[in-house]
Amino acid sequence: MTEEKSLNFVEEIIEEDLKSGKYTAIKTRFPPEPNGYLHIGHAKSICLNFGLALKYGGETNLRFDDTNPTTEETEYVDSIKNDIRWLGFSWAKELYASNYFDQLYEFAVRLIQKGLAYVDDSSSEKIASEKGTPATPGVENEYRSRTIEENLRLFEEMKNGKYADGEKVLRAKIDMASPVMQMRDPVMYRIKHAHHHRTGDKWCIYPLYDFAHGQSDSIENITHSICTLEFVPHRPLYNWFIEKLEIFPSHQYEFARLNMTYTVMSKRKMLKLVEEGYVSGWDDPRMPTISGIRRKGYTPSSIRTFCDKIGVAKRDNLIDISLLESCIREELNVTAERKMVVLNPVKLIIDNYDEEKSELLETESLPNDPDKKREVSFSKTLWIEQEDFMENPVKKWFRLAPGQMVRLKSAYIIKCESFDKDENGNITEIHATYIPESKSGHDESGLKVKGTIHWVDAKNALEVEVRLYDRLFTSENPAQEENFLDFINPDSLQIKKAYAESGIKNAEPGNHFQFVRIGYFCLDPDSTNDNLIFNRTATLKEGFKVKQH
Ligand code: ATP
Ligand code: MG
Repeated sequence: MTEEKSLNFVEEIIEEDLKSGKYTAIKTRFPPEPNGYLHIGHAKSICLNFGLALKYGGETNLRFDDTNPTTEETEYVDSIKNDIRWLGFSWAKELYASNYFDQLYEFAVRLIQKGLAYVDDSSSEKIASEKGTPATPGVENEYRSRTIEENLRLFEEMKNGKYADGEKVLRAKIDMASPVMQMRDPVMYRIKHAHHHRTGDKWCIYPLYDFAHGQSDSIENITHSICTLEFVPHRPLYNWFIEKLEIFPSHQYEFARLNMTYTVMSKRKMLKLVEEGYVSGWDDPRMPTISGIRRKGYTPSSIRTFCDKIGVAKRDNLIDISLLESCIREELNVTAERKMVVLNPVKLIIDNYDEEKSELLETESLPNDPDKKREVSFSKTLWIEQEDFMENPVKKWFRLAPGQMVRLKSAYIIKCESFDKDENGNITEIHATYIPESKSGHDESGLKVKGTIHWVDAKNALEVEVRLYDRLFTSENPAQEENFLDFINPDSLQIKKAYAESGIKNAEPGNHFQFVRIGYFCLDPDSTNDNLIFNRTATLKEGFKVKQH
């Protein structure tokens, strides 16, 4: 039986548009501003835009919204492209809003010729003060009645560099009393004598978002221009420009942006975290950036699954980060190779096991795949977790305790005989005997034990570094706090040395592991041959803690 998933509201619109013959194919775009790294919120927009085109057989353009000239953007452009590809999507065309500067200039001239735009000499303060409020209409100033000829001349002079920054702007002539503030003669062009990363010094006037975005959509024949809810008030203006210019009628649709608990997603706040050293960089595994999440060990498919699960809402909400965590957990539970790694080691000595002896024991690497097996070595001295031993066991303690039996995973049943302590009371060594007939898979001991613990052969254990990442904030919604930096989780990263089974030395970047009974890990790119570093992608269970009773 196949599960019918109900359509989201954008899909409903598209299906209607295709059915009615309004369009024969759809075209979407993803329009990042190349001024930062993409985050998980962008992933939602990417999955939606690219996903719709895939589902309905259309295409998606990648359009960099680079109307705001800034100095260095190549790094961001490259990282954005890399992230989109990594998420598994490919764009039809790589475009830049700046490609359209000539066309947009011509559009502006066309509006002036129609008497629908004018050059205003007012300062930005004066323009703002004349805008009015939602309750009171704005003021029509003296520049509004300039003749078409004068406006054409002045706008051309603006373009030719005759005026200084801020001296003049081009405004649309719409309605200073409109109930929609955006329609009160919005600014279309401003003067900015600034170098642009692609057009160099060709331009000293730059279009504002509202005059660039919709027109770029239209130039590219975008059928469904999907953006986040804060653009709802811009939609009348989006439509007005297209209507007055009589160009391809792209339509804007708005959905709720993704907000997630225990993190911040504004570029300004993320930049602060990076610049002030709260994290190691944009790709720190605690960051909500795609590069951070990737480094933490998330897979593209887990992110796509997450975006699919949260759906496309019309109202803003706050998504629980544990939903994202559960998506990677579910996937890695099936795909991640098992390894035994001991994080808080204590020595276990099997008194009745021959010092010289070593054996290779077979153990499963993937529980769902009986063919996927590996061998782990076993000998007299092993590492086990300190937490798996209790000197004075509580009730229902099924792990190691004096006189108590436990199974060593894929190996033997052992019985704890004694232990040593140092002067501070720390357990330094545990002694046990093993039951030779209890070998896993060939158990003829007849013994029943309730607990199984993991272990690593001390003879050839590999010392590795593990980085245990936790949520970056202690507040559910740090962006709403007065100062989000006051809510940084002091324990968001714990670095440890651990002992791993020797086979892990062949790990490669991109490999995912389940450290048995511990969590999911991946190899960090900082690793060297002599120092393998593993990042914790997720704990085994939500809020997983080793239970003490
Ligand atoms: P800023 O932080 O400067 O406001 P931004 O987050 O809007 O930037 P853009 O590069 O302008 O970043 O965004 C590209 C696209 O991604 C836009 O269509 C935007 O609506 C969408 N987007 C951004 N943040 C989210 C989010 N949290 N959830 C869903 N979509 C988002
Ligand atoms: Mg933006």
